[in-house]
Amino acid sequence: MPKTPRFIEPLAGFGVTFSTMFKKPITERYPEEKVPTSPQYHGRHQLNRHPDGLEKCIGCELCAWACPADAIYVEGADNTEAERYSPGERYGRVYQINYLRCIGCGLCIEACPTRALTMTNDYEMADDNRADLIYEKDRLLAPLNDGMIAPPHPMYPGTTEDDYYRGSVTEASPQQGDASREESR
Ligand code: SF4
Ligand code: SF4
Repeated sequence: MPKTPRFIEPLAGFGVTFSTMFKKPITERYPEEKVPTSPQYHGRHQLNRHPDGLEKCIGCELCAWACPADAIYVEGADNTEAERYSPGERYGRVYQINYLRCIGCGLCIEACPTRALTMTNDYEMADDNRADLIYEKDRLLAPLNDGMIAPPHPMYPGTTEDDYYRGSVTEASPQQGDASREESR
């Protein structure tokens, strides 16, 4: 097979450079201009609430067991009548996600039986130290929307845990608001 002359290869390299000079540059102007992600993008997690503000997490740890990167740590605890954070027996007292480990696979949200855990499109989670990349409930809990009251407070009067999962509770009642104010005194 005849050998390629030695001067051809550098010329071919310059050819690639030359052809690129006439292409439109792709310049990302982040962070001044933020391009929206795809709706399916797996960003920061969120711990969701019921419509009256009680937390959906029941502290079952299934998300932690499903995580292939061992990025989730959960400690459940019992609700009491004096201090209730979720409908039913248990709630997630401690909830941590280590974003130094998380690979964004979404297996945790598939494993969650109550749809307490979902993922948002928020990707701005860079930091300059390890400790701040371990997110706890204060940064994972969904914000309180209209009609919600911050727990602890009792369940909606006259309802059971099942009513919450059937979607029968649509907002907090005035009695729950009164009880919440009593508990915070
Ligand atoms: S997205 Fe994947 S890696 Fe990240 S916490 Fe969930 S299961 Fe673990
Ligand atoms: S987020 Fe879901 S799977 Fe994880 S502990 Fe809470 S209820 Fe269980």
